[in-house]
Amino acid sequence: MTPWSVKKLDLSPPSLSELVAPLTTTLSQNFKDISVSIEPCPDLTLSPFNLAAAGLSGNERVADIGGPPNLAPVPKRDRHYSIPEICSLMEMQSSHGFVLGASAGPFHVLGFNSELTPNYAYHDGEVTNRARYAKVDEKGECFTAPSPSTDFGLMGNLFGSDGLPGDVLKITARTRIGEMNFTETIQAALKSAFGDKLITLGGVFLIKVGKANLHVMPDFSKTPLKTRKEVEEWIRYYDMDAPLVCLSVLHSCEKQGWDLRAEHTHCFSEHGEGGHYHFDTTPESVEYEAYFNIARVLYRIDQPEREEGKS
Ligand code: ZN
Repeated sequence: MTPWSVKKLDLSPPSLSELVAPLTTTLSQNFKDISVSIEPCPDLTLSPFNLAAAGLSGNERVADIGGPPNLAPVPKRDRHYSIPEICSLMEMQSSHGFVLGASAGPFHVLGFNSELTPNYAYHDGEVTNRARYAKVDEKGECFTAPSPSTDFGLMGNLFGSDGLPGDVLKITARTRIGEMNFTETIQAALKSAFGDKLITLGGVFLIKVGKANLHVMPDFSKTPLKTRKEVEEWIRYYDMDAPLVCLSVLHSCEKQGWDLRAEHTHCFSEHGEGGHYHFDTTPESVEYEAYFNIARVLYRIDQPEREEGKS
């Protein structure tokens, strides 16, 4: 029996084609060259994606697990999660499935805190785990490696599906002319078209050209991180090079009482860089290429208890 609480919400999403017009409008306000279309998903197992399954289709769903209160002020070391167990809490098929996204690393296995790009598929008992972690090494630099575990720690945002080929939302964007980052632009587009109706997307995007600001959490702080400022000073920020593969889950708006993380994107690469995406730092040269699908069901798993007086 799992100890984790589970809340479930049917999202009854619009069709992908209903997203094209609003995304086109808002993206073109923030990027010079953009395209939005519905296309068959490329085979995501191949380079440059290197994901654990080919596609993002079939029984599409998203889960928000744990949360930042599990990290600060002091890490809750009993908060580590098994991806196969989370897949079953997400009511995914037992025979085959695929989850990707952004989470903290499995500190209880690795022996230190890190960032993780969950990237896990299973098919008839065979498991493909292509998750990588990123940590801060002793020189203060980013170090990345394949995760030896199918667990993660503290918090995670996962998009789950049957991992099958199928039509997805393809977005390309080049040369940023506005202030919003790539995912904020998508969120703003969905919010403007759908208002308070929650639209949830998950998938992968490439930063093909340019650089991006990413953070990596170091090992756990020896002193409690009591304020946002203390957390900010503890986290390490880096300017990292494309190409970066970014696994992303985002929501168009809040769901009252659910404490959803509005957006969570983690990146990995073949050149030893990775971490938590904030924004590109090369607006003139940056190029994005994204493949997203829309979630039909949302799960809130092990939602941290709310502090007194906090709404
Ligand atoms: Zn993160």
